[in-house]
Amino acid sequence: MTCNIDTKAFSDAIRTHAPRAGADLLFIAPIERFNDLPAEKHPASIFPEARSVVVVGKRITRGTLRGVEEGTQFDLYRQYGRDWLNNRVLATATYRISEFLEDNGWEAVPLPNLPPEVPPMGIPVREGLPAPNVMLDFDDAAVRAGMGEIGYCGMLLTPRFGPRQRIQLILTDAELTPDPLLTEPVCLGCKDLKDICPLGAIRNDGNETLNAAGKTTTVAKVDASICGKCRNGVEANPFHASGKPDRCASLCTRNCVVRLEEAGRLMESFENPFRKRAPWGFVEELHRL
Ligand code: SF4
Ligand code: SF4
Repeated sequence: MTCNIDTKAFSDAIRTHAPRAGADLLFIAPIERFNDLPAEKHPASIFPEARSVVVVGKRITRGTLRGVEEGTQFDLYRQYGRDWLNNRVLATATYRISEFLEDNGWEAVPLPNLPPEVPPMGIPVREGLPAPNVMLDFDDAAVRAGMGEIGYCGMLLTPRFGPRQRIQLILTDAELTPDPLLTEPVCLGCKDLKDICPLGAIRNDGNETLNAAGKTTTVAKVDASICGKCRNGVEANPFHASGKPDRCASLCTRNCVVRLEEAGRLMESFENPFRKRAPWGFVEELHRL
């Protein structure tokens, strides 16, 4: 079956389908927004006919962080916030949206969020093309699709959930109506970085400027070698040893959740504040690093 409705109507149909498929977030970038990227990082290296990049997101529920915040239960985050969320819940949503595209005659390439730090596998298999595997920067793609911004502490922040989401991508040859880039800031630009990360891994002495489709963002230097030893809720990268540590439940990210909620920056609100007492954290680790 081929798509016989116009681009906007079909794009609206995908957006309507997304929550039915289990996604909380769906944003679309035209392939042209990736023009500045080298072939090794370009979605079209994976699917040369791609016209649109669809970024699919699923929330990490706030309660999934509770056991780490209280310092009493860590496995619930590993399952519901990381492994099951990535590999079951979000993967199912991504696949259902891919099926919707293919039911309408458009090829849909689903991509799990493998870390961009994974090195390529030696020599190119096809002359003139980058070596496999081409690894995309999904947070960068989310910015290009208008889903969010990279916060000063280096996490993807969205207006709805702040740093609490997992994302995957779909590359498709369907030309879809894009979302605009996010213009309203989510990040508060906190200056007291020592209070965000008591181990001093987030520093403002090596700021980096990111550029995604003309949107520039300044981010702090985050020392991944310190994060790798941190026991404040951080986990190893779930996909590859080369990838950066998973900080989604770590003290820095939980501090970010608290601040964004207190500042009223997020669309999702709760009856009660996230932090009700002093958070759990291994501050004494500081003296051993
Ligand atoms: S903790 Fe503050 S500076 Fe860091 S990402 Fe969150 S809002 Fe931005
Ligand atoms: S993961 Fe740990 S060391 Fe790294 S920034 Fe967060 S709190 Fe600091």
